[in-house]
Amino acid sequence: MKAMVLHAIGQPLVPEDRPDPLPGPGEVRLRVEACAVCRTDLHVVDGDLSSPKLPLVPGHEIVGIVDAVGAGVTALVEGARVGVAWLGHTCGTCYFCDGDAENLCDAPVFTGYTRDGGFATHVLAEADFAYPLSGFDDPVAAAPLMCAGLIGWRALRMAGDGQRIGLYGLGAAAHILAQVCRWQGRDVYAFTSRGDTPAQAHALSLDARWAGSSDDKPPVELDAAIIFAPVGGLVPKALPAVRKGGRVVCGGIHMSDIPQFRYGLLWGERQLLSVANLTRADALEFLAVAPQAGVKTTTRVYALGDANQALADLRVGRYQGAGVIVP
Ligand SMILES: [Zn+2]
Ligand SMILES: [Zn+2]
Repeated sequence: MKAMVLHAIGQPLVPEDRPDPLPGPGEVRLRVEACAVCRTDLHVVDGDLSSPKLPLVPGHEIVGIVDAVGAGVTALVEGARVGVAWLGHTCGTCYFCDGDAENLCDAPVFTGYTRDGGFATHVLAEADFAYPLSGFDDPVAAAPLMCAGLIGWRALRMAGDGQRIGLYGLGAAAHILAQVCRWQGRDVYAFTSRGDTPAQAHALSLDARWAGSSDDKPPVELDAAIIFAPVGGLVPKALPAVRKGGRVVCGGIHMSDIPQFRYGLLWGERQLLSVANLTRADALEFLAVAPQAGVKTTTRVYALGDANQALADLRVGRYQGAGVIVP
């Protein structure tokens, strides 16, 4: 197999040939068809997330074909198309796993962080954490659903049932979520960095009601806002944009510090929440919703050997939608 490997924090990924891995009990091996690039991959290679497995193959938005099946796996067969996401394993016994909150598991394993991921021709995954994608014909289009879509879905559920939804940071997650919101009949208000007219135009093309700068006051009070940009400074901007009792949901795994702000911004029973990881139930639910909602992803394709370029382009926001590596 071929893989792009992180050997040290902050260093470029290195192309490597490795022996094909063999699936252990409960595991499957995938021939990777596509793996989308996520901002979390940048946080991993930059060292914003502590203690990654090293050396590491990043990538946690994987679509592939099962090409080997380990002992005891009955739910998946060779030839099946499946998706693999960030949550790669949970303990099944801790307080959170017991309580229907496996996204908060005390002893989780994460794909492309604490186990090898999909910037490779092949990857192993636990069969219980590989989701059938029989209804998805285009692996490139489906790959960004596996994190941007799933985490976005969880964030939207945490935002509540409000009509007017603000999305801060129009990257891969927001461009999927905008479509889901419109399908649900909600109104989307898109906030980008100042002067990012391509992103604002992209938001309007996705039928956002309004697009503007995160410094701007939206034309209406929002019921909820979801912050996808990893910028803590957006919290005191989003809080006054939501109505009393409204929610601001931080959708990223890492964020720069939230600056001090006056209590009046939170007053009025406004709520500030974070979203952590996903559950398998989230994945199954969203993968059923996405085709019904007619979600279409905007993608830019990279060869496996160009994974460093894909990460660099994400860092500076060189494309709309999602970057996808196709080995
Ligand atoms: Zn657990
Ligand atoms: Zn991700």
